[in-house]
Amino acid sequence: MFHELKNPPQWLLEGLMKEATSERSCPDCAVGLMKKHTEGCDVARCLTTGDQRLCCDCGDCKFDIWDGKWPGTNEAYAHGFVCYDDLSGQIMFDYNRLYEEKEKKKEKKEKKD
Ligand SMILES: [Zn+2]
Ligand SMILES: [Zn+2]
Repeated sequence: MFHELKNPPQWLLEGLMKEATSERSCPDCAVGLMKKHTEGCDVARCLTTGDQRLCCDCGDCKFDIWDGKWPGTNEAYAHGFVCYDDLSGQIMFDYNRLYEEKEKKKEKKEKKD
């Protein structure tokens, strides 16, 4: 089971950030660091909406760049979204929560419109 870790300390965030940053090429399209993801890459995000580019049809996705981090890592770090697994004791960035918060924001926006 994953649990939210509230108010993670800065050293923990920095450690996770270090761990989350790899020198390797994109796990999906295999481009090198700081290169544009290829067309059809699973990891690439739409720079306009922030959604997965594969599923986006905004028509203005632009080219996302592989910076060695999973999409959302910078945001999770900035917001301090961290969770832990009580089975393995593993601590990691909470990408799911990031996604949920984004969806919530979207819903609010849609209600407003
Ligand atoms: Zn890629
Ligand atoms: Zn798009």
